[in-house]
Amino acid sequence: MIKFFDYLRCYEDERPGLLSEIETVFSSGTLILGPALERFERNFCSAILPGFHGVGVGNGTDAIHICLRALGIGSGDEVITVSNTAVPTVSAIRLSGATPRFCEIDYRTGLLDPTQLEHAITDRTKAVLPVHLFGNAVDMHSVCQIAKKHSLFIVEDCAQATGTRLSGKHVGSFSDMSAFSFYPTKNLGCFGDAGMVVSSDLELSEIAKRLRIYGYDDFQRTIHEGLNSRLDEIQAAILDYKLKRLPSYLNRRRDIARFYNANLPADVLLEDTRSELDIEHSYSLFVIKVPNRDRFRDRLRSLNIFTGIHYATPIHLMDGYNFLGYRKGSLPITETFCENIVSLPLYPGLTDDEAMVIVEAVRDSIY
Ligand SMILES: *Cc1c(COP(=O)(O)O)cnc(C)c1O
Repeated sequence: MIKFFDYLRCYEDERPGLLSEIETVFSSGTLILGPALERFERNFCSAILPGFHGVGVGNGTDAIHICLRALGIGSGDEVITVSNTAVPTVSAIRLSGATPRFCEIDYRTGLLDPTQLEHAITDRTKAVLPVHLFGNAVDMHSVCQIAKKHSLFIVEDCAQATGTRLSGKHVGSFSDMSAFSFYPTKNLGCFGDAGMVVSSDLELSEIAKRLRIYGYDDFQRTIHEGLNSRLDEIQAAILDYKLKRLPSYLNRRRDIARFYNANLPADVLLEDTRSELDIEHSYSLFVIKVPNRDRFRDRLRSLNIFTGIHYATPIHLMDGYNFLGYRKGSLPITETFCENIVSLPLYPGLTDDEAMVIVEAVRDSIY
């Protein structure tokens, strides 16, 4: 059987290191906001975003929420993002009090289309929240230009993009603040929930640091209305350990993706490397487009290969977001894109033999 995701494939190898990290935390006497978190915040930034400041938080959703709050975005403001994202992108905007507005996507990639961005801007727009979906990169050069012209903040959702670079710079470095998730399935995943706010602005990072613990100042008096969202010492120690293996995990993801790209029919593939942009994709998900998705997934399932869909229903068509006022037909490109996509298994523990079996099964099941 080939699961869609299986962290246990890597666990045997990581086990001694992880258990010793956990033992160190258990016997340290500090479980929350201690040395393991500080070490991980420092090491995460020096590994992928040197010169930036990291603030560990409870999960990726809170990371986005805290970015928006730190920038002073709230009730009455609008934040532009895409509708074919993980629900947390949008729930984080709502948690801040702001209203999400959706921008159309590029059908080739499924990513925010900067040429459509200005259509979504209104008098109330305060920020753009591009999502680096699947480990690919949004064209931040164009987004930055438009944001500058309209004086908008940018917050990058990098939850699926640890390891992704655009023009040699890691994603998250093109904006005022950015958000990462360490949910188990992500490129750098913990054994529970965790997230990180990253910024090059020390003052904004300090505000994010206060927001994660009730907005306290140094005397436990709230100076910014905050919340409880902390990255605990156990998960921080686990993440710091796994961070050392991140380069090899990313290489493995890229090797499998290269094999898929070389061996699957061109018409099912998304466009990963837009020729005009210099992108180092991190393949947090490997998404293809097939004509008859349900039948395709059933056939793979009958071969014991499990797939996913990211995402089947665009958020503007979900009942819980009816109040935003969108209808079927509001975002035709996004809606069509969501009808045909399927995500294939791709994770560091997947073997070469399994990748070969998957390619054969996909070829036999498309039409
Ligand atoms: C996973 C994810 C999030 C949220 O992260 P959590 O840690 O699960 O809260 C946000 N945005 C995107 C695009 C994601 O994939």
